Formats: sequence, structure tokens, C-alpha cells
Amino acid sequence: MKKIKKIIVDRDLCIGAASCVVVAPEVFELDDENKAVILLKNGKKRSEETEKKELQTNLDDETILLAAQSCPTKAIILEDEDGNIIFP
Ligand code: SF4
Repeated sequence: MKKIKKIIVDRDLCIGAASCVVVAPEVFELDDENKAVILLKNGKKRSEETEKKELQTNLDDETILLAAQSCPTKAIILEDEDGNIIFP
């Protein structure tokens, strides 16, 4: 698999199922709208396009992929360094 460069949560697709949070609590959390947000190094949180290097964790790509695959609505989008979609 190609290396993950960017992570995006599509808030319109997210239904707050929290499977991503169960698989990768270091990366994902639910906000007060019950939508997944990505946890950043600087303590901030966002759903929008985030570079992997901005994450608060060094979690491996396989686990991040598992988290994306666990999402019932495929709301987590992963891109490689060339901007190609790794998942879904
Ligand atoms: S698993 Fe998908 S639907 Fe559930 S909180 Fe995460 S992004 Fe949202």
C-alpha cells in the first residue's frame, strides 16, 4: 500500500458511528455535533484535509487504514503523496 499523506473526514457522510474512534482513538474523536474530528499535534481538531505529519500521533498507516475501513459510510478519505485516493 502507498504511504498515507492526507486524511479527510467528510462530515456530510459521517454519522457518528465512532468505529474510527474505537480503532484509532489517537487519531479520531467525536465532536459535539457527533462528527469525527482529527486530533492534531497543536492540540486543535478538525475534519478538513489534514497532513499525516500534523497528527498528534505517529500511528502506523495500517491502523489508520483499518479505521477508515471500519467506517460504515466510508466518511474517512485517505490520500497518498501524489494526491491519489488510497481509500475508499
Ligand atoms: S466511523 Fe465514520 S461515521 Fe463513524 S464517526 Fe468515524 S467517520 Fe464518522
